[in-house]
Amino acid sequence: LSAIITVGDEILDGFTQDTNAHWLAGRLFALGVPVTGMEVVGDRVEEIAACVRRWLLRSDVTHLLVCGGLGPTPDDRTFEGVALALDRPLVFDVPTGRRLQEIIFRYTAAGRRASARLEASGRKMAMVPADGVPLINSVGMAPGMAYALPGDRHLFVLPGVPRELFAIFSEELEPRYLQSAGRQAAVVELRYRAAPESAFYPVMKEVESAFPDIAVGSYPHPDRRELTIRVRGASRERVRQVVERVRAGVSYPAQEEVVISP
Ligand code: ATP
Repeated sequence: LSAIITVGDEILDGFTQDTNAHWLAGRLFALGVPVTGMEVVGDRVEEIAACVRRWLLRSDVTHLLVCGGLGPTPDDRTFEGVALALDRPLVFDVPTGRRLQEIIFRYTAAGRRASARLEASGRKMAMVPADGVPLINSVGMAPGMAYALPGDRHLFVLPGVPRELFAIFSEELEPRYLQSAGRQAAVVELRYRAAPESAFYPVMKEVESAFPDIAVGSYPHPDRRELTIRVRGASRERVRQVVERVRAGVSYPAQEEVVISP
């Protein structure tokens, strides 16, 4: 299982919508490492550390992702919080520092910066909890980091800017840490038109006890007068059996049946 911690007062105050967690949840689910919980925490070192510690107590969470707050300004405190939680010192990461310096040289040569010096703000971005593996950010400055933890578990720290988070996840995290981490769940959707949710109560109740390993969810879209019944589980065979039971258990015909995965 995985879990996502989003860091940022901007999320808590309602200025920014947490689309990163939404995107990550979809990818992690598809990779067979579904998200068991998400938490949003403000930009305070103690709170970030406490939240990370809490999630690390969950031994069934093998992949913990901490997102946002890696920037050059003093209100970006995620690495400090993670260092506190892992009880590791903050150290200057030489490969990250070198990468930042190269970017600054390029910017200076292109006339986008006046000085090629790595300033305090840049140096801050390269101060990360010790003994991590940098995750290259091909589209921005903020580095991502991976930390191997006892029991074959990993903690990842990713930037908050969506395109940077997407790039690091796709180019570094997924191929290096998630490729063989889990098995993709089987998901099938039944889509109904003008069928009331209440009609599904008896059959959903029945499959809930007959198939405890299979989850059945009902998701109405009142605007389009549509209803999606989503069936998911580890066994493709058993998901199929539940789909057939649901179909047979209501007097409304399904308009469409869609295999979402695998
Ligand atoms: P940077 O180095 O670019 O500052 P960062 O890790 O510090 O990266 P944040 O300061 O947390 O990133 O956020 C930068 C911007 O990214 C925010 O202003 C916001 O627009 C966007 N952002 C941050 N977190 C999220 C999120 N969870 N979902 C969507 N957008 C986000």
